[in-house]
Amino acid sequence: MAVKYLVVIVVVAVVLWLMFGRRRTRAVPRRDARAKELEGMVACAHCGVHLPRSEALAAGGRSYCSAAHRDAGPRSDG
Ligand SMILES: [Zn+2]
Repeated sequence: MAVKYLVVIVVVAVVLWLMFGRRRTRAVPRRDARAKELEGMVACAHCGVHLPRSEALAAGGRSYCSAAHRDAGPRSDG
């Protein structure tokens, strides 16, 4: 029956596609970096600049871009 061979070919093709698809995704640093960036971006509570969470300074439940702004605290309404 030709249908059986067709099923085998489709299964093999899917397995190969999954293997290569996985490798491709891992081999693309741009996508990973961008996703990481979008995930962990925070805004400075003082000046509002956006920066990666890993580079931000946390204090009082807020994030700051620098020690100077952390010391200055969140920008008040005036
Ligand atoms: Zn700042």
